[in-house]
Amino acid sequence: MLDYFLLKTLHRIHPNLIWREYARKSKKILYESHFILSFDCDTEEDIEVALGVHSKLQEMGITPVYAVPGELLRKGEKVYQKIYQTGAEFINHGGREHTYFDTVHNRHASCFFYDQQSFNILKEDIFLGHQALQDVLGITAKGWRTPHFGTFQKTQHLEFLYRVLKELDYQFSTSTIPIKGYQYGSAYKSNHITEIPVTGMFGEPFNIMDTWAYFAAPDRVKTPGEYKEASHKLAAFASDHPILINIYGDPSHIHDQPDFFQAMQAIAKIAKNVNYTQFLEMTDENLRHIR
Ligand SMILES: [Zn+2]
Repeated sequence: MLDYFLLKTLHRIHPNLIWREYARKSKKILYESHFILSFDCDTEEDIEVALGVHSKLQEMGITPVYAVPGELLRKGEKVYQKIYQTGAEFINHGGREHTYFDTVHNRHASCFFYDQQSFNILKEDIFLGHQALQDVLGITAKGWRTPHFGTFQKTQHLEFLYRVLKELDYQFSTSTIPIKGYQYGSAYKSNHITEIPVTGMFGEPFNIMDTWAYFAAPDRVKTPGEYKEASHKLAAFASDHPILINIYGDPSHIHDQPDFFQAMQAIAKIAKNVNYTQFLEMTDENLRHIR
């Protein structure tokens, strides 16, 4: 296994070496590039714009996957039921809301970080999210995304998580940071759960390529144009090397951003759009098992 320091060194020599390493591992399970787009819908603003964003993407041949906290799934049930009926996959994203509206700064802020809760509360939250998907959409979820997963990456966090997911008979989680992809490939098995790491920025492969960084963070230094540029570079790389592109964002960040839709189009042109279940059906038997 390549450790963190070796990967960092590779990156200092040339960022492309990291992507080559990712491609080398992905090649073992993929013969062509695939693209999964998932949306975390963490606010009520997402409910307002989700269907519009969804329809626009479907016209481009892309069907996103949805991760909606249970409380918001219930609040937006009409919208999410409509989206579900178009064939979109939904995964469990916990029960409680994990953002709040900060009236002092007039913007949404994060709360309910998983690394700051007891395991009992976390287990309850995972079950609440599971129940909400059953109640609102009538489905038994098979996949999971940890709320604010960047701070929930320690071995003991993930071991706990996979134990609870196994108890619920889940198949997969997509809750790890990009470095896991460079270490183990596009997807790997750990404690009976398949983990699918999210994709990093092309020029900064250790940072998550999310819409927050480019379109929404109040202190952002990146621009929508740079998101499009990074997507084009990623697409160019993926056209030469079979990899999984596993990008996520929030609909409210990008609903009125042409650069986002152009970026998705560029990726979908060279990488086949699938959802997590379809991706697993294709790769499952060849996945590597790690501890
Ligand atoms: Zn979230």
